[in-house]
Amino acid sequence: MAMAAVLCSAVSACSAAVASPRRGTRGGGGGGVASSMHHLKLLHRLSNFSSRFAFFPCMKSGCVTFRTRGNERIFFTSGNTSVVVDSGSKRRARGPLMAAKKAAEGSVQEGGQYKDTVDLPQTSFNMKANAVQREPEIQKLWEDKQILQKLLERNTGEPYTLHDGPPYANGDLHMGHALNKILKDFINRYQLLQGRKVYYIPGWDCHGLPIELKVLQSMDADARKELTPIKLRKKAAQFALKTVNEQRKSFKRFGVWGDWEDPYLTLSPDYEAAQVCVFGQMVLNGHIYRGRKPVHWSPSSGTALAEAELEYPEGHTSRSIYVVFKMTGLGEKFPEELKPFLPDMGVAIWTTTPWTIPANAAVAVNERLTYAVVELPSTTTLEEGAKIGKANKRVGSALQAPVVKYVIVAADLVPTLQAKWGTFLDVKGTFPGSALELCRYKHPLENRESPVVIGGDYISTESGTGLVHTAPGHGQEDYVTGQKYGLPLLSPVDDDGNFTSEAGQFEGLNVLGDGNTAVVTALDSHSALLMEEAYVHKYPYDWRTKKPTIFRATEQWFASVEGFRQDALDAINQVQWVPPQGEKRITAMTVSRSDWCISRQRSWGVPIPVFYDNNTGEPLMMEETIAHVQAIIAQKGSDAWWYMSTEDLLPPQYRDQAAKYKKGTDTMDVWFDSGSSWAAVVENREGLKWPADLYLEGSDQHRGWFQSSLLTSVATKGKAPYKTVVTHGFVLDEKGYKMSKSLGNVMDPRSVIEGGKNQKSEPGYGADVLRLWVSSVDYTGDVLVGPQILRQMSDVYRKLRGTLRYLLSNLHDWKPEENSVAYNDLPAMDKYALFQLATVMDGIQDSFNNFQFYRFFQLLQRFVVVDLSNFYFDTAKDRLYVGGKDSYTRRSCQTVLAAHLLTLVRSIAPVLPHLAEDAWSHLPFVFYRDGGLQAETVFEAGWPSVDDKWHSFSERLTFWTTLLQVRGEVNRVIEQARAGKLVGASLDGKVYLYVSAPDLQQSLTSLSGSNEGVDALHRIFLTSQVEMVSSKEAGEDLNLTYSGNSVLETGGELWVGVDRADGAKCERCWNYTPAVGSLDGHPSLCERCYGVVTLGPAQRTPVAV
Ligand SMILES: [Zn+2]
Repeated sequence: MAMAAVLCSAVSACSAAVASPRRGTRGGGGGGVASSMHHLKLLHRLSNFSSRFAFFPCMKSGCVTFRTRGNERIFFTSGNTSVVVDSGSKRRARGPLMAAKKAAEGSVQEGGQYKDTVDLPQTSFNMKANAVQREPEIQKLWEDKQILQKLLERNTGEPYTLHDGPPYANGDLHMGHALNKILKDFINRYQLLQGRKVYYIPGWDCHGLPIELKVLQSMDADARKELTPIKLRKKAAQFALKTVNEQRKSFKRFGVWGDWEDPYLTLSPDYEAAQVCVFGQMVLNGHIYRGRKPVHWSPSSGTALAEAELEYPEGHTSRSIYVVFKMTGLGEKFPEELKPFLPDMGVAIWTTTPWTIPANAAVAVNERLTYAVVELPSTTTLEEGAKIGKANKRVGSALQAPVVKYVIVAADLVPTLQAKWGTFLDVKGTFPGSALELCRYKHPLENRESPVVIGGDYISTESGTGLVHTAPGHGQEDYVTGQKYGLPLLSPVDDDGNFTSEAGQFEGLNVLGDGNTAVVTALDSHSALLMEEAYVHKYPYDWRTKKPTIFRATEQWFASVEGFRQDALDAINQVQWVPPQGEKRITAMTVSRSDWCISRQRSWGVPIPVFYDNNTGEPLMMEETIAHVQAIIAQKGSDAWWYMSTEDLLPPQYRDQAAKYKKGTDTMDVWFDSGSSWAAVVENREGLKWPADLYLEGSDQHRGWFQSSLLTSVATKGKAPYKTVVTHGFVLDEKGYKMSKSLGNVMDPRSVIEGGKNQKSEPGYGADVLRLWVSSVDYTGDVLVGPQILRQMSDVYRKLRGTLRYLLSNLHDWKPEENSVAYNDLPAMDKYALFQLATVMDGIQDSFNNFQFYRFFQLLQRFVVVDLSNFYFDTAKDRLYVGGKDSYTRRSCQTVLAAHLLTLVRSIAPVLPHLAEDAWSHLPFVFYRDGGLQAETVFEAGWPSVDDKWHSFSERLTFWTTLLQVRGEVNRVIEQARAGKLVGASLDGKVYLYVSAPDLQQSLTSLSGSNEGVDALHRIFLTSQVEMVSSKEAGEDLNLTYSGNSVLETGGELWVGVDRADGAKCERCWNYTPAVGSLDGHPSLCERCYGVVTLGPAQRTPVAV
């Protein structure tokens, strides 16, 4: 004892030694909640083993914060990222390694003479990733060896079609692009490994206003004057192609595999022709019409906009006004007793767009609401004359000195309006809304009368007066109501947003500026303005120019969604939506959407192939004309529409009438471009199959690409163009803020990979760390990223790399054919390790199949840190390093390690392709895939299959789970003994053990003898000896300073005591045995090492568990 005490300082620390709990998630789990509940349970279990951990469940992110008081392990979360890091690599049993290292350094200290008998790990696989340099080399290797092409030829599975949503060919890539393309690559690479044929054709959206604007902005005013549509289109095409090239480079650097040499571009002639064909089919099916309807119009861009081109910024303030229209006649249903109020009675309306008052054609009411006639007092003094902007509201002339004394408002709103108008409203009588139908009033500014009409449930008492100013030329619901009553479609506003002559006194004024003010002023001077009030609400802005839009009736081409709405809803029902809420979103949007305005008054796009009669303006568009234009475009591109004559664009049978027609100048909405990609790409490209297996884009595409694709496909084929749709959220910064230039929190994927200007604060992490981050987030919601999160990812990456290095380096002398140990001959611990591997692989496969990459991430890192690092790898070192080169114990361990290596490296390949390939290129043996082909690269090796036998261990699982719980308790007591300086390393200790359950006591006893078996308890505990005691009392009689009691999960008591180990320390392996000092010629060796050194490796020592 005294001698040993002097030697115990070399191994300084005992790790936290968390035992591996049994994993119960095989194939289970599901959503994030289930998974995090499991996570929580797991951590609580861990907490039973060690009191050193603190837990902070964080419900918001669905994960758990987990810290230690020491520095060994950190589990933490950041938003929806959860990370497990093992930062302290303090080994509990570094004896052999340390001894051999010292020996290798030529020291004459202990272990020196046995250095050649120790089998140290060897590999050229570098612990440092050096990703900035190494990843491009690996990508070049794939390209040089044409790996993707080989896989596409060799794979015999069904085609898998992930159809790429085209990013806009405008500007640099941001983290959202990275998230999107990398997620797609996970799926494609996984399917390739599964043996499927995956032709992934990346695409770009190349037409449209933003590119047109970029071209215009790059030119001075003179040059712009010279600009013809065809010149503009040439420049726009150049700009788009240049951007495509730049973005393509970045996507490739992310490690995304696809047909980058032949992507699809919406500006290529074959694409344009396919799009015109889709349009033509919709025409023939009767789904396209021309009409004058209100559309979202952007005066700043001079064009109509689609829903998807609008945004609703916070904080838009409108000038809202309450206005009274003096009534001139009453309908039949109006109550008799209230009729006498007529000469002085009016209807009160409220609007947030005063400029639409000149286009007023009716006032609409809800027949289900109750209305009241209220009397206004003769004067109102509230904030009289107060300026809007200062007080934010002011009373108008119609309240200050009412000309109309009796006003009709919704009865429920009387109290609200009293408070708002600051005046008492005396209710004279109430009646249902239906009684107001066909009452008449006089327009306050024009010399015309209009009716009160019944609108729909869009009229409520949530705001306003319950009576709605109706201008069918300026609102969708107004338009529908106007159709019902045959109201005139007034829209006295031009393309620039200025009033036309139809607006009389307001002609030339801009409706979003002076025009609006002029209308308010005119109403006030006509005693019609009750009150004006600033009103903050959501208002549609042009997403490109960031300027407000207006709703305005113009002549446009529409796709009649009404004609196939039900088919679209049925099609939505047939699609799998991930996450499932996506179905509700797109259903709601499809139910409520109006007809799709598909014409744009711009030059950079695909032309609407229509001709107009010069005299009548009648459009000419039919099967023959469309087919002719389509054929021309297929051959020459859509520029032909601009440079060819009307005569040549018309089919032969119309040519002699060419003088009668002119070609149209409208182009198609770019959402029609990308919405036709299923026809241009999925149906046309070899290797792809319609409908596509998968569309995967941001959740904003429910009203964008998912919807436009659905509509064109349903309108022409009656079916959705996709089987499954996966959506992801937006990328926010670490604090959850939107990334913006003004906040300075924008993260550029390129600098994440290559490093920023300051390589210290912005190191280059390589694509795999970026990809690992993508796998770690629950992308179904918004995701967070920032410098700290990336550092954490880099730690996890290093841990994975270290694991692969451990596996590679300990297999340096292993040959599959010669050294494999048959499954049935493996010791229980090794079977247990394979069982865990099989279980985690089931979970990983399940995660990939369900697009739940964050589960893959969590399973993998838990497996690597908890199961491998802290248990199997830890206990394996003894037999790997000092068990004897060819010993059964070492070879069985290597058999298990090889299974881990070959399984892990292939299962991480979809997410971390560079790391997997790097490791594969250092494989110390050759791997042959089925059919005897050598797998030179990891992707040729295919997805790893799990041997069914590995699962068969489940019978003995309960015992091993309990054993690991015992191990945890043993470690806890050893830790106390270490803190009390009784032992240094755990190998200095001897453990006394008692369990009250007789079966368990017997099983443990059978493992506790001082044999050399892998399953021996002292090897599992990493102590030198274990002795079972017959009862708790017998244990307590030993009077040990360090002991502990606990209750096992399976029931029954556990008692653990720790003392110094018996005997002396072996120089070679640092285990203590009484035999040290007694062996011939090797006085510093234990009997095991004596056997290895003198007799050759130990043969199998069967152990019954
Ligand atoms: Zn030894």
